[in-house]
Amino acid sequence: MMNAKTSTQALPGQRQTKQRALVYEVIRESKGPLTVPEIHVQVRQTMPRTGIATIYRTVKLLHSSKWIQAVTMPDGETRYESADLGHHHHFQCKICGEVLDIDHCPMSLAPGAELPGGYILHEHEITMYGICPRCR
Ligand SMILES: [Zn+2]
Ligand SMILES: [Zn+2]
Repeated sequence: MMNAKTSTQALPGQRQTKQRALVYEVIRESKGPLTVPEIHVQVRQTMPRTGIATIYRTVKLLHSSKWIQAVTMPDGETRYESADLGHHHHFQCKICGEVLDIDHCPMSLAPGAELPGGYILHEHEITMYGICPRCR
């Protein structure tokens, strides 16, 4: 068929929409918050021609639209996760750097708790470190 090829080619706008949906899906399906280069690696498995600049642009857009939120790790690294996650913490492998979500909260002081001296707790962040199954 002469026009079989043109029918599979997406218009620039369609390609952008597909990339945006794919970036969000990669972030939402992940077991932990991802860096932009990690998102890039996964997006390229489906859309191999996607450049890292496109990922940066798309992540910025999803972040400003509040679909995703930024996670600043204690070492200063920025990662991204879906904005609809409940209270959770992070575990980072000290060897490969992979970050995993931990739904279990080890802290007994809940937000709103009063601390000695009249201080009221609003929130807490806990980052755990260890070794992942692949690095063991
Ligand atoms: Zn690891
Ligand atoms: Zn907690």
